[in-house]
Amino acid sequence: MDFSHILKVIYPCLVILYLIDGIVYIRKYHLLFVSLIGNRFQLKDSGLHIIGFFPFSQVFLSHNLPFRLTDDGVYLSSNQNEPASIPLINTDYDYITYQDIEKVRADERVLKINDKLVRMHSAKYAQYMRDLIDKLKSLSRAQRQQTILVFSSEVTDIEEIRVRRYIYYTSIRWLKIFVPILSFYFFLVLPLVLYSDIGVYFDLYRLLLPMLITYFCVLICEFVAHKKIYGGDTLARINILIRMLLSPVSSLHAVNILSRDLFWRFDYIALGAELLSTATFTKLVKRELWLADYLAVKADDDGLVDWWKLRKKYLISLVTEKGISQEDVLGSPTKEDESATRYCPLCASGYRSGFIVCSDCGVDLEDFK
Ligand SMILES: [Zn+2]
Repeated sequence: MDFSHILKVIYPCLVILYLIDGIVYIRKYHLLFVSLIGNRFQLKDSGLHIIGFFPFSQVFLSHNLPFRLTDDGVYLSSNQNEPASIPLINTDYDYITYQDIEKVRADERVLKINDKLVRMHSAKYAQYMRDLIDKLKSLSRAQRQQTILVFSSEVTDIEEIRVRRYIYYTSIRWLKIFVPILSFYFFLVLPLVLYSDIGVYFDLYRLLLPMLITYFCVLICEFVAHKKIYGGDTLARINILIRMLLSPVSSLHAVNILSRDLFWRFDYIALGAELLSTATFTKLVKRELWLADYLAVKADDDGLVDWWKLRKKYLISLVTEKGISQEDVLGSPTKEDESATRYCPLCASGYRSGFIVCSDCGVDLEDFK
């Protein structure tokens, strides 16, 4: 059996490998901003997603983890008892004061605080949180307050998101040339030469040589771009290269492999402000704002009140930054059912007159304004 026959047999397997390489599973509380060609983004939550169908697909990992840092301790929902939706009030969380934290470790993407585990969306974020909690443990309450303020403003810093995005786009310029050339060879030229009569007129080895050269150009550009974007993270760079060498079809996903960890540190709402359309962002921030509004005022015996107050402050600043009027996002949620007169401030379900308490959440209903 000659080489072209072997290629004929393995080519369909390579295409299947390419498709499998473009499928990701997103865990609960982890989020994904996805764009098919790098312009319009959509927000995806947990489940299976096909993300790498086109060479220019971009994906940014983010999260909405049940993990809150406060001045006195950490609220977290351990993975063993994940509730159906994001926990909101303090009784839904496990609470550990900084004094009670005996050990905090980051094991790949898992953050371990005493015997509690939180599965983070990125190994970098797990390490960052480990270092931050270690630091908070050694500080006074006033210093912790200041440190948490700085942390909250850093993770919602939209200017910094824009800077990182700019660095990313300028770093992938060469990949945007070589990856489409490689895709052209792989999806068009190679099958034509292997399976059609055109193959008679072309020498397969002459075709494979430029394809091989393009593949190595993609590897080099990936290495250089990763260094520009992520700096000293050599281990991650080597892992990506090994993956692309062991499975050469994954080099067709070189652009989105680079994008995944770009915004590991940032709050998903701030990313939404930068990446989503104004209409989609307004819907997203509106829900978060009336939750913050309700939980910062109504749940006054809750240890998370200050957390929600701070959150509200940053949400308002993002809304202003995006040029959205506060009247469009504050107040009650959008009515799904016109006959509803009241709504649940936690889950947004509408209720007709006569109902006082939400049957799912057990909290008092609010009047639609
Ligand atoms: Zn409810």
